[in-house]
Amino acid sequence: MVFGLGNKDKNKAQAKAAPATPAAPVAPGVASAMPKATTLPRGPMSGLMQDWKLTVDKVIEHAHFNHGNREIVTRTVEGPILRSTYSDLYWRARQCSNALLADGVQRGDRVATLAWNTTRHIETWYGTMCIGAVLHTLNPRLFPEQIAWIINHAEDTHVFYDTTFQPIIEAIKDKVPSVRRWVALTDKDHLPKTTGVKDLRDYESYIGGQPKDVVWGDFDEQTACGLCYTSGTTGDPKGVLYSHRSNILHTMIGLQKDAIGIGAADTTLPVVPMFHANAWGLAFSCPATGSKLVLPGAKMDGESIYQLLDEEKVSFTAAVPTVWLMLLQYLEQTGKKLPHLKRVVIGGSAVPERILRAFEENYEVEVVHAWGMTEMSPLGSLGSMTANVLEQDRETIVKYKLKQGRPPFGVEMRVTDDSGKELPRDGKSSGRLIVRGPAVAKAYFKNAGGNILDKEGFFDTGDVAHLDPYGYMQITDRAKDVIKSGGEWISSIDIENFAVGHPAVANAAAIGLPHPKWDERPLLIIELKPGETATREDLLNYLNGKIAKWWMPDDVAFIEKIPLGATGKINKLSLRETFKNHKLPTIQAAE
Ligand code: AMP
Repeated sequence: MVFGLGNKDKNKAQAKAAPATPAAPVAPGVASAMPKATTLPRGPMSGLMQDWKLTVDKVIEHAHFNHGNREIVTRTVEGPILRSTYSDLYWRARQCSNALLADGVQRGDRVATLAWNTTRHIETWYGTMCIGAVLHTLNPRLFPEQIAWIINHAEDTHVFYDTTFQPIIEAIKDKVPSVRRWVALTDKDHLPKTTGVKDLRDYESYIGGQPKDVVWGDFDEQTACGLCYTSGTTGDPKGVLYSHRSNILHTMIGLQKDAIGIGAADTTLPVVPMFHANAWGLAFSCPATGSKLVLPGAKMDGESIYQLLDEEKVSFTAAVPTVWLMLLQYLEQTGKKLPHLKRVVIGGSAVPERILRAFEENYEVEVVHAWGMTEMSPLGSLGSMTANVLEQDRETIVKYKLKQGRPPFGVEMRVTDDSGKELPRDGKSSGRLIVRGPAVAKAYFKNAGGNILDKEGFFDTGDVAHLDPYGYMQITDRAKDVIKSGGEWISSIDIENFAVGHPAVANAAAIGLPHPKWDERPLLIIELKPGETATREDLLNYLNGKIAKWWMPDDVAFIEKIPLGATGKINKLSLRETFKNHKLPTIQAAE
């Protein structure tokens, strides 16, 4: 079967109801709709529903009472597979809360983690958040100096870390005066022996022996809950401070059928790390639904991921394209199949067509392309198909699947020109992508960077995109990566996506280099697969006919390894530096 042919949906789409005559708009609860309502006050009336605070303790409590025996499977950092349940998570998170309280943690204090996706890591999340302290995820892929800078900015009091990251801890431990407790997420037997870290505790002893009784929640839903710094390529990193309310609403946004849409019968493998954009909310949405949870720990290579997908019968998974490239390579080499996997959400950077086609056409796994960012908690759009699109032929459907998707309910999206004027939703007018919603940041922690919203409350994502009449958004570039040639924009993403389709290419990046005539012209930088060869002409011939003529790169350069940033995205800043003296062959002709 090939996904997106959708016969069932076709029938539904044909059975359109006749449009009803719209009723005259009357605001709910407005007394003026009633004749002579002399006893009722004029103006809006409050509803009479419960004030059920949107705090994340509700999520794990729900999982405990309704899905208590549902399994959590972790590939531990120590090696063996650990099997536990949502009820285990619930009780141990309560013990973690008591350990933190005994250690003097108060509401609003920042507790950091430097950790892989494991059940212990999730325990520290709920243990911290549910007592009103703030869980701060640190990204271990940053340099130690950057991590120390972020800890100091956040004034973290506690750091929980996986022993994999012991060298980072050694490098920063004397540079972060706010930290008064280090806890290694392991047991006594695996505690690193000679660390020099003062009063280092192992997690199992730290929470072991603590009571399970604790008061959770019982504070305002606007209370800060999580903190995550953006890996900004310019300026200092900036902290996004999530609230309990924003996390709960983001969970509900993600659980729509056309979004993450998992349920109690699913088995979910979040490969996307909890330290990068909250694992796209899966540490909340899995317990909220009772999906079985499979956590990959430190191992993200093709074979290790395959083993979990296969042995745990994973039905739903999510990760950035790089991870899926590794898995697909492993499948091609071994001839193995994916009999249990139904749906994979891919985002963080654009999905190359060959990944989409390989999953859907060779392995019968539906691909949902997603876009988002740390500032959006992070879900912004997901590429589930609308009825109108499903009526099209397969090649058109693929084109839609390669777009970044549609905003789920709870995300407002617009595209504007540089003066802030909204551009038409015609599928071609590209401009600044701006967003608004209950899970979108309104300011950075400690107000870094000042006001970040426009006068209507929209946040500028820094992405360049267009929207089409069905609501599909397509990113054409990061505002700062766009290549400006002769006053027009060239999409570096499109060039890269086509280039990685070449069989010899492992990764590709397009950057703009200064040009005397055109302002900028594209240089294509290629990392070849091990053992493969290809020339400049091979690559240009391959692109010929796939992209507009004036988008054709002026030159192709080869590099051993395309540098990736801390969140797995191509580090264009570093490429621009490396190739700043590269002479485009077209420059001489122009001069
Ligand atoms: P981060 O906050 O680190 O998750 O980075 C967010 C940025 O990643 C977005 O503003 C986009 O530039 C980029 N991004 C995320 N998902 C996609 C996608 N599906 N396609 C293209 N770019 C993406």
